[in-house]
Amino acid sequence: VEAFVVAPSEAVRGPEDGLRRLFALGRQALDASRSEVAAVGIGCGGPLDSSAGVLIAPLHLPGWTDVPIAELASAELGLPAVLDNDATAAAAGEHRFGAGRGTRNMVYLTVSTGVGGGVVLDGRVFRGSTGNGGELGHVTVDWNGRPCKGCGRRGCLEAYASGTSIAERAREAGMEVETASDVAAASRAGDAVAERVWEETLAALACGVASLANVFEPERVVIGGGVSREGDQLLGPVRERVKAEAIGPVAHSLEVVAAELGDTVGVVGAAAVAFERLM
Ligand SMILES: [Zn+2]
Repeated sequence: VEAFVVAPSEAVRGPEDGLRRLFALGRQALDASRSEVAAVGIGCGGPLDSSAGVLIAPLHLPGWTDVPIAELASAELGLPAVLDNDATAAAAGEHRFGAGRGTRNMVYLTVSTGVGGGVVLDGRVFRGSTGNGGELGHVTVDWNGRPCKGCGRRGCLEAYASGTSIAERAREAGMEVETASDVAAASRAGDAVAERVWEETLAALACGVASLANVFEPERVVIGGGVSREGDQLLGPVRERVKAEAIGPVAHSLEVVAAELGDTVGVVGAAAVAFERLM
């Protein structure tokens, strides 16, 4: 990473203002880079059309409807530009430059405000028909379960394992907490309610990861995102349970590891998909 610049999206200001600030940020990164830059990669939450480079109606960018962001970026920055789902891009980044290096089949899961992910099959990032596949957070772990705010169904992995849901379930159980990290800390300190919420989180995550492992038989499952910063309090038990729950041969060859790219996973991932699609 030669240059890394960050700014809040402030999505409510709308696409016109947002794109102007985004491209200014892009130019700032280009200016700071010592090497010649060959292409622009853009990662964003869906729904979007990755091959057309169009944001259809991203859930977290209200009002950004049918924005041809790749074409606009290309015109503004004078470079070829590609768009991909941000979780797909992150998977590509961890596969090419991070904890998934050297694998042929890999599942990447980000456990953060929501739960997202991406799948690499036979060395290539899986996108589905228009780039909206690989929505790993919406794998069902309890079909009669909690309503999922992300997609409207019930019992999605995201409805249990996301940071938002961990804090929410703790508050429903009577705790006064702000974040998933508060719940993790209370659980470490022996708070019985927090322990129960954390246990449910581990069970849901292990269930989701074991199911994904059974489907794809990856060599590695890479787990990143804010909640994964709890480290072995999360990854240790999940690793053990997935090993115990997944089908024998799948479990045998499987590693469950922490992501390596941290805060830069979004931009490294966007660069990785640009590399893959344009180079
Ligand atoms: Zn869902």
